[in-house]
Amino acid sequence: MSDYVERDPRFRALIAGSARLERLWTGGRWLEGPAWFPAFRSLLFSDIPNDRILRLDEADGHVSVFRQPAGFANGHTRDRAGRLVSCEHGNRRVTRTEHDGRITVLAERFGGHRFNSPNDVVAKSDGSIWFSDPTYGIDSDYEGHRAASEIGAAHVYRIDPDGTVTAVATDRVQPNGLAFSPDETILYIADTGATHRPGLPATIHAYPVSADGRSLGAPRLFATCPAGLYDGFRLDSAGNLWTSTGEGVHVHAPDGAHLGTILVPEVVANLCFGGAKRNRLFITATTSLYAIYLHANGA
Ligand code: MG
Repeated sequence: MSDYVERDPRFRALIAGSARLERLWTGGRWLEGPAWFPAFRSLLFSDIPNDRILRLDEADGHVSVFRQPAGFANGHTRDRAGRLVSCEHGNRRVTRTEHDGRITVLAERFGGHRFNSPNDVVAKSDGSIWFSDPTYGIDSDYEGHRAASEIGAAHVYRIDPDGTVTAVATDRVQPNGLAFSPDETILYIADTGATHRPGLPATIHAYPVSADGRSLGAPRLFATCPAGLYDGFRLDSAGNLWTSTGEGVHVHAPDGAHLGTILVPEVVANLCFGGAKRNRLFITATTSLYAIYLHANGA
C-alpha cells in the first residue's frame, strides 16, 4: 500500500491493493481537464500553458496532439450525446465540439459582459451544462490572456439547452472544480480563493439542488483541504468524492470523512474516471498524466 495512506477502514474496499500508480506520460507544463471518451478508448486533457489539448489512446498508450491552438482550454467533459464540452480560458467561453468537428459556442457572455475564464464543467442529465468562472485565465498571459474581469466576480453558471445562462452560485471567491452527486441532488463546488486571498480556507462546499434541478440552496461545508488546494474532482457510483490536492488524490465519503489518500509525486490539478469499466482513475498532475485502477467505478 505504498502509494496509499489509509485514514478510515472504508478506504480499503475502494482500492485494488496490488494496483500501482502509473505515470502514463510526461512533458506538459500544467495539465488539466481530463475527459474520457469510451467509444474511442481515448482520454482528452489540456496542457494549458502550451495551449493544446492532448489525446491518450488507451489501446497503445500513445499520446498525441488533439488540438493546438486550443483557446487555452482548461476543463472538459463529455455531454450526454458523447460530445466534447470545453472551457476555454483564452477565448473566455464554453464550447462544444460537434460530431462533425465543428465548434459551437455554448456561452461567452453574462449580462453583456465577457466571462473571466471558464475553468471546469459538468453536464447534467437534463441537458444543462454547469461551469465555474474564476479568473486564472485572465490573471496572467501564462494560462490565457491577461485582462480585467468584466463581470467583477467569479460565479458558477448553468447553460440551458436553449442557450440561456443563469448564475447559480455567487457566494464563492474563486469557484473551481465542480461535480454532481450520482443522483444529482447535490452540486459540490471547490473554492481556490486562497490564491487571491491568503489565509482563506481551501474548501469544497455541498449545495443542495432544487427539486426542479435548476437552482441551488444554502451550502454546507463538505471538506477543508489540509494539503494545498482542491481543484478538480469527480464522484464514484457510491457517491464518494475523489479530489485533487497538493499531495495526491483525497477520497471522501458522502458524509465528508476523509477516507484515504493516493499519493502522487506532483501537484494534482484534476482527475476523471475512465476505461471500459470506469474503474481507472486518470490524474492530471502538473507536468504528467497518471492513472491507477480502483475497486470503485465512476458515477
Ligand atoms: Mg480547475
